[in-house]
Amino acid sequence: MVMAIAGQLRREVPISLADVTDTEKKKVLAVLDTNFLSRGPIIQEFEERLSAYLGIPYVIAVNNGTAALHLSVKSLGISNDDEVITTPFSFVSSSNCLLMEKAKPIFVDIDPETYNINPSLIESKINSRTKAILPADIFGYPCEMDKIREVAEKYNLPIIEDSCEALGAEYNGKKVGGESTLSVLSFFPNKQITTGEGGAIVTPRRDLAELCRSMRNHGKPDSKVAYTERMGYNYWMNEINAALGVAQIDRIEEILSRREDIAERYIEKLSSLEEVTLPVKNTQNKKRSWFVFVIGVEESKRNQIMTYLQNNGVGCREYFPTIHLQPLYTNQFGYKRGDFPIAERISRQTIAIPFYNKLSEEDMDYVVTQIKEALIKTQ
Ligand SMILES: *Cc1c(COP(=O)(O)O)cnc(C)c1O
Repeated sequence: MVMAIAGQLRREVPISLADVTDTEKKKVLAVLDTNFLSRGPIIQEFEERLSAYLGIPYVIAVNNGTAALHLSVKSLGISNDDEVITTPFSFVSSSNCLLMEKAKPIFVDIDPETYNINPSLIESKINSRTKAILPADIFGYPCEMDKIREVAEKYNLPIIEDSCEALGAEYNGKKVGGESTLSVLSFFPNKQITTGEGGAIVTPRRDLAELCRSMRNHGKPDSKVAYTERMGYNYWMNEINAALGVAQIDRIEEILSRREDIAERYIEKLSSLEEVTLPVKNTQNKKRSWFVFVIGVEESKRNQIMTYLQNNGVGCREYFPTIHLQPLYTNQFGYKRGDFPIAERISRQTIAIPFYNKLSEEDMDYVVTQIKEALIKTQ
């Protein structure tokens, strides 16, 4: 978007923008003419389509990714004072889902290149209270699953993989999630595909899938009966959201390749800037699915650079603030600065810049120019 302010051309480039086509709008509207606004055939279609795309047998669609995480935790019977090893560098709900069951997140530090949990730090945190490992595929980049699985198998621990940012990412040539006991997706508007709000639990295990289906539906054994047999919730995704999801899945390949294309262009345009750290590259066994575009800069300049960008119409955000230093966690668990130095350093250096399917070449150039100017101004 271009605006003339005081004779100068100033752009507004948001950090994120949903991409919904006319076909998708029609499919959503069509739902309103059916008898099913919720609990109808489209949610099932959405689950089947996702399952086929991922090559993982069971998908349970729910109302958001956080609910999907909660049911995953609950389906494994994780409760009071149980410990789960996880990452402090993630969106807060990958740990909040443990607090929901009064379980305790045990953080370990991250890898400075991939920003994902460092697998070699997991084993020393395992004890008799440890009930699971919960890694997250941060910014769409797959975790080191071979190593995480090796530790998990040694101690017979299940894995909940938070793949909310990584739909379509590949590990060892397969879509992420299938190597884990359960994995979780989100369809929030800034994710690769959206349903407005939405999420899903993905698992190869039928028993866990049935438990999650039941807990999504008030704890009823199946949707035809009226009685409840376990604690449950109303975590249904509705038909309107599911219709958008089905339509988005129809063009997921196009969406992912468009995002990859934009990321490659950013990398090209930014690669001459020595002060900017770019996202880690794919390897032979890890293929990123582009979720956000996050750059790193000198930590003492980061906030000034962000202010400059924001003042010049470039949407950007600190991404992520570490989980263990948020008041909810410092108050309850006494975590403090310095506990996870790599996650904290990365957290002080990173900035998410505008990234979405429809980002134009001109807007990208504008963003890059503003980054260059911000770097000069903060020298
Ligand atoms: C988006 C996201 C979630 C879940 O978000 P919802 O808004 O509840 O769908 C969980 N974990 C991570 C890492 C995420 O990025």
